[in-house]
Amino acid sequence: MKHPIEQSYMDFPILRDNRDYTYLDNAATTQKPDVVLKALQDYYTQCNANVYRAIYRWGEESTRRYEAAREKTAAFINAESPDQLIFTSGTTDSINLAAATLCRHLIKEGDEIILTEMEHHSNLVPWQIQAEYAGAVLKFIPVSESGELDLAALEGLWSPRTRILALTHMSNVLGTINPVKEITARAHSRGVTVLVDAAQSVPHMKVDVQDLGCDLLAFSGHKMYGPTGIGALYGKKELLEALPPFRGGGEMIRTVYLDHSEWNTLPHKFEAGTPNIAGAIGLGAAVDYLNSYGMKAIEQREARLTEKLIAGLDSLPEYKLFGRAENRGGIAAFSREGSHSHDLTEYLDGRGLALRAGHHCAHPLGRKLNALSTCRASVSFYNTEEEIEKLITALLQAGEHIL
Ligand code: PMP
Repeated sequence: MKHPIEQSYMDFPILRDNRDYTYLDNAATTQKPDVVLKALQDYYTQCNANVYRAIYRWGEESTRRYEAAREKTAAFINAESPDQLIFTSGTTDSINLAAATLCRHLIKEGDEIILTEMEHHSNLVPWQIQAEYAGAVLKFIPVSESGELDLAALEGLWSPRTRILALTHMSNVLGTINPVKEITARAHSRGVTVLVDAAQSVPHMKVDVQDLGCDLLAFSGHKMYGPTGIGALYGKKELLEALPPFRGGGEMIRTVYLDHSEWNTLPHKFEAGTPNIAGAIGLGAAVDYLNSYGMKAIEQREARLTEKLIAGLDSLPEYKLFGRAENRGGIAAFSREGSHSHDLTEYLDGRGLALRAGHHCAHPLGRKLNALSTCRASVSFYNTEEEIEKLITALLQAGEHIL
């Protein structure tokens, strides 16, 4: 049974069974509702068999559920067709696939790739690796004091050698929502291919790939109430068709000879080997679950919780919030004068609050902000206003407990 969104924590066994513990690390991963757990259990107990290969009822049913999950997930981001949704193990895997194949397809020595200073390591390190192989040059859109991209500076970065621009939709540290549609339009006017890291946006707002206009978009199932080990890469059809395969193996081929092979059609060309069948089916159930509340209701609920969180942090003079973007999601990184973020987070755990501490996989941004280690609270619609108040009260009282 589904609950009103204010009580949606009741849809999650781990949350309803632990009402004295408050989970505010949703940017790292989210909890799983009953419907997702049931989809996994049903798959393994009703029709576990490998996809595509089996001409018997369990194999046909597992293939049907796997492809239904692809259809739901593709529709969730408004992809033109399910064939344009490649299942991967998550955002990191999607970006590694994209970086390797795009660089092979597009980059010649001396070509340029534009990234931003606020990228998660997952949207930075794969480009560093591929740029080194291909002889490409990386350039970076700077981040301003307020935690926003300096779009005026972007104009100075373009050159006739710019081929690719890759950026995050929502920063996992600052909460900033970047103007991806506008940046994509600017890139396309110069013939530049755009990849969007949507790990933090797809779970929390309506993401429409056709409206954004991006060429590729990556996201993770586990951050959107689905299982770990599943995610997706969306791509424009002509681009995916033109890209070389990433991994070789079963299912991604049409015909194999001893000295060469011919590739399967989309999306199979990029799904070598036995895929994460259960994970994909669980992700499909997560998509159904999100749709049952609707992304608009989820966005509004999280905006309210975020407003309360930011106002609460601002009411505490000894705390500093990093990131003041006007357009932001429910992520707040902060530090307390004179305290180490690990000490603060350990204290909060003792008060029944789960928050993140550290560099949040964004070393360059931490260096830029002069804050390599911060605390981070990140909300989901299943959090409550009382939980935000509990955090602010605990932070207020931290001085009595830690230096
Ligand atoms: N990009 C961003 C913005 C993220 O927040 C994360 C996860 N913290 C990732 C990429 C990587 O996602 P995953 O670990 O699921 O591959």
